[in-house]
Amino acid sequence: MEVIRAQSAGFCWGVERAINVAAKFAEEGKRPVYTDGPLIHNKQMMEKLEAVGIQEVGDYQSKTEVKVTEQDREHGVLVVRAHGISPERRSYLKELGMDFKDATCPDVGIIAGKIKLHSRKGFTTVIFGDPKHPEVIGLMGYTEDRGYVVKNEEDIRALPNLGDKVCFVSQSTMFTDEFERLAAILRETYPDAQVFDTICGATKERQSDIHVLKDAGAEAIIVVGGRHSANTRKLAALVEKTGLPAYHVETASELDFGHLKERYKKVGVTAGASTPEFLIQEVVEELQRV
Ligand code: SF4
Repeated sequence: MEVIRAQSAGFCWGVERAINVAAKFAEEGKRPVYTDGPLIHNKQMMEKLEAVGIQEVGDYQSKTEVKVTEQDREHGVLVVRAHGISPERRSYLKELGMDFKDATCPDVGIIAGKIKLHSRKGFTTVIFGDPKHPEVIGLMGYTEDRGYVVKNEEDIRALPNLGDKVCFVSQSTMFTDEFERLAAILRETYPDAQVFDTICGATKERQSDIHVLKDAGAEAIIVVGGRHSANTRKLAALVEKTGLPAYHVETASELDFGHLKERYKKVGVTAGASTPEFLIQEVVEELQRV
């Protein structure tokens, strides 16, 4: 079977950077290496990280208490994930007394900076995103308690009166067209709203590569990545939006190769920003063998 792989498939630079930070500490033998919540939303990669001594503490939303022993305080290092954290969580983690390394993705840092700047000037922030996602939870911490999260048009229409200073930003992994549509709706009520398209370059590239695969003749697209990875799920939804069949799998073993061979001559392969190379390569090679 002919296989076209999306150029952007796999780790984004923010995730790669955070993994490298933690891996470097592990290599140096500076143990234990802790991360505040899972470093990456990929089960197979988390198992590999655990094997080299990188251990998740805290929780997915970076909210729970972290238990620290005297030995941890002396030798441990705590790494903040690419998603980032709120200023309150940062203070809490620093007070634990371990070495502290912030691996927040600079693209998330830009969003936090915009919110912080505008909050100080008295703006109310509206974030397009998932209120349960750790990135959004962290960003809400910069809004000076004047922040709202919206997932759709309905949420925008249900907002209370926000006054005349409104700032609209996006979680880094949302759909660009949806952000623009919601910005237009928000501007119906707040024509002077400050709107910042903060969807990151890596996300935009992955989204536009779906169209590249379609234009190159892919009859279906395999999306490789964790079931809990928000950006992988969004990629699969985007494939469906283009009208092509989408197959979201975590590993090659989930694919029914007989079924694929019967239906398609050429397929595309893409992967979320948290999908490691070895899983993508396995899928590509198995498909090429069919
Ligand atoms: S998806 Fe974008 S913002 Fe998030 S970690 Fe990757 S590069 Fe950074």
